[in-house]
Amino acid sequence: MRQFTPEVVLPARRGHEQAVLGLLRAYGPLNRGELSRRCGLSRTTLHDTLSGLLAAGAVVTATPDEAPRGRGRPAERLALNPAAGQALGIDFSRRAVYVAAVGVTYEIVGTAGEAHAPGLPWPDRVALAERLVRGLLGGGLWRRALKGVGVGVVGPLTGAWDGSRDGAFSGVAALLGERFGGPVLLDNNTRLAALAESTWGAAAGDQDALYLRLSYGVGGGVVAGGVLHRGADGVSGEIGHVPVDPAGRPCECGGTGCLETVASIRAVLDAYRARGGRGDDLPALKAAVEARDPIALGLLSEVGGQIGRVLAALSNAIGPRVIVVGGELAELGAPLLEPVRKALDAGAVPISRHRLALRRAALGGVAGALGGVALALGESPLLSRYPAPEPEPEPEPEPGPAASPADSRAGGPADSPVGRRGGRGGPSPRPAAGWGVAQARPRRPLTPLPSLPSLPTLPVSRGRRAAS
Ligand SMILES: [Zn+2]
Repeated sequence: MRQFTPEVVLPARRGHEQAVLGLLRAYGPLNRGELSRRCGLSRTTLHDTLSGLLAAGAVVTATPDEAPRGRGRPAERLALNPAAGQALGIDFSRRAVYVAAVGVTYEIVGTAGEAHAPGLPWPDRVALAERLVRGLLGGGLWRRALKGVGVGVVGPLTGAWDGSRDGAFSGVAALLGERFGGPVLLDNNTRLAALAESTWGAAAGDQDALYLRLSYGVGGGVVAGGVLHRGADGVSGEIGHVPVDPAGRPCECGGTGCLETVASIRAVLDAYRARGGRGDDLPALKAAVEARDPIALGLLSEVGGQIGRVLAALSNAIGPRVIVVGGELAELGAPLLEPVRKALDAGAVPISRHRLALRRAALGGVAGALGGVALALGESPLLSRYPAPEPEPEPEPEPGPAASPADSRAGGPADSPVGRRGGRGGPSPRPAAGWGVAQARPRRPLTPLPSLPSLPTLPVSRGRRAAS
């Protein structure tokens, strides 16, 4: 069982840091003595731990205690640095909005999602995202302290991070910026899901991975040599638009017989009914599969074969070590994935067959939003070759007024400067000048994440084969 733990995010982070951060999150600013008493670490260990956290910008020194402490210096208090900030990920899928939030030092605070009718207007979708985020974070949404908002949308983007060159998304980034306050980056939502699966999920640690999502749309993402590939015009990963049937149905993209026209949820349900199957939705199809309905099983065998042949062709071109299949259709399990495996086995070059693993995705529907978080943080090695967003205009310098107690409700002064987004691998934002507010109340407890399902690995070939 793979747990979604912060350690996966930052493998080298120590438990001591977690303990200290957890205390600061729960109690607000504490001095070293209070921290030592509560976490039970030795002075030396606590000193080292705090030094690392201060150097990383995760913790800052807050206003010293007002009350004089005898002849000594006032006790320096330490607090989480809101400018090191929370980041948000939002996935605007075709029929649902998913959100994920990350706190200081990148621990996932929580995730949420809600389905909606297809074609919901953008302002309503953004409002839904805002409601979901507030449900997760409440007063912990530090608008001005957000390091960024990574947003997944359906379809390729022509390279502009604000969607300004893509008519369908024009204004979406600006609307999101108004609502959430941080820099907003748009990218393809399925590629963001691939990023998340490669960061925390079924392909974590694999340098070469191919991700396919079978949902209301069909898309994917490519990780090659440890980096996420975006491609010219942001087209990389549009696996759903590989043609599989020249005499097939017209596709939304303008093509004919694309994989999406046979392997999306709607396409599979339409084909099921056309063959005499009885079921209007995915649960009905799932029930039919579990009941060993021959129409459903025969259909999934064919669709799986088409998917597997596309994956084999891509595998031969890209050379992944692991192929991850996600989306709601992947939850149908072996009746779909075994035919995928067989076709992949038949089509992959022999040298890769016995090494290529086929896995179910691990992160569920929220993967795209989690990938948005990773994009917003921008510091993943997977993004090291990703184009840097265009620099934003420098803000007018703001005075750094002393924080008033009222500011503490939101975790920081409302007008504290925001850590500006650097380029990839750039320096972390410095603690905001003038930030020294005491956080007056215990924080909300962290939203526990559900355990992830185990990761079934379906080896493509169980026997060694000679290379061609
Ligand atoms: Zn297409």
